[in-house]
Amino acid sequence: MKDYRKEYYEQPTFWNQDYLKMPAEKERIQEIINAVPPDTGSILDVGCGNGAFVNTFVGTFSNKKVVGLDSSEEALKYVRTDKIRGNITSLPFENDTFDLVLCLEVLEHLPEDDFREGISELQRVSKSHIVITVPNQEDLELSLVMCPKCYCWFIPYLHMRSFNKDNLDNLFKDLKLLCVKEIGPVIEYRSYNYSVLRFYHFWRRPLPPETAICPQCGYQNKKELRNRESSKYFDHLLSLLVSLIKPLVRLITPLRRKRRWLLAVYGKSSR
Ligand SMILES: [Zn+2]
Repeated sequence: MKDYRKEYYEQPTFWNQDYLKMPAEKERIQEIINAVPPDTGSILDVGCGNGAFVNTFVGTFSNKKVVGLDSSEEALKYVRTDKIRGNITSLPFENDTFDLVLCLEVLEHLPEDDFREGISELQRVSKSHIVITVPNQEDLELSLVMCPKCYCWFIPYLHMRSFNKDNLDNLFKDLKLLCVKEIGPVIEYRSYNYSVLRFYHFWRRPLPPETAICPQCGYQNKKELRNRESSKYFDHLLSLLVSLIKPLVRLITPLRRKRRWLLAVYGKSSR
């Protein structure tokens, strides 16, 4: 079966932009730089993307050995440090090669087998510390879209798992969680009633955005399919109903706040 996930990550549109121009991303990178232990001499960034972190880091600390690794050939074009094309499931390095191993916005994308192997590989090549960032308590069900070709439901940005402070605690067998903190802009959200949400999805059958590629059949949304055919009368009636119910729902479900990402620092217990 063809791996459409690879195709997804080779799209130039993800990598030809300067993430540091986005205030939230700039803040995230600065928080990661602050989390680098002071005695770190060598760093491996697994899933470095277009180098948002590694490029910034070597610009500030030119005396450190920094290597970026990514599976996307397109992403690596923009990386200005030592770089290597590879996969988290099989890191091409000896045990304990790097003082610090980073894995930023990667773990949430991995299917179960890759996730298990990836966690083990990060531990293996880290001599001392691991730093990760992941989305904070992401509600995956909210983002589901339906492929109009094979009718499977999927998350358009291919996230497969959700993290919180509790499940980050025992992520690594050989490393201890030293600290975890929420970083990034504050997001306001409400707890949804999942029966209502599922009905809404069933009714709307949301289409994937243009950058999404169906992981099952490879379908990519074309603009002409943007306007889904449906009963306008039924849509209108339901929209009206939703607008009437919304104020009541807002009244009975409390507004919650969280920051966008979690940053966790792990250390090998022998230190
Ligand atoms: Zn499909």
